[in-house]
Amino acid sequence: MSLYQKEKYWYGINRDDLRLEIIRYSRLNGYETKEFASSFCRYGNHIFYLESDENEGVARRICTQCHHSHLMGDSAKYIEDAELEEHICICDNQQFELESAVALYDGSNDVRWYYIGCRCAICSLIGVFADWKCEGGNTTEFLAKI
Ligand SMILES: [Zn+2]
Ligand SMILES: [Zn+2]
Repeated sequence: MSLYQKEKYWYGINRDDLRLEIIRYSRLNGYETKEFASSFCRYGNHIFYLESDENEGVARRICTQCHHSHLMGDSAKYIEDAELEEHICICDNQQFELESAVALYDGSNDVRWYYIGCRCAICSLIGVFADWKCEGGNTTEFLAKI
């Protein structure tokens, strides 16, 4: 583990660090995550621009190499009313590694809360940039669409 803190921000060198930060955040939020999935574009690229609207429950990632745009999880259902805002790191970079995580309803495999963790491709800041209560249904199917 190589997580470290600078002022109020956390930094980490890889996805394991990002997952630890998502777990920490999710515990504070009251719905601890147990399931994770990493975003990759169809040609293997893993650096994206991220846009989201937490009120509507919509997130979109755009590949920094092929510019393919993808609605994450069940976002396609809610895109009509969404006003997406682009995420920018405190270092002004807009390119991130993305890690999705969900908390489940007790005794089920259904999504209850959705967390999107980011690791800045330039300064390595890590954090949950967006999260919301999400009736996303079956976790396996949901995480296959992130
Ligand atoms: Zn791509
Ligand atoms: Zn940064």
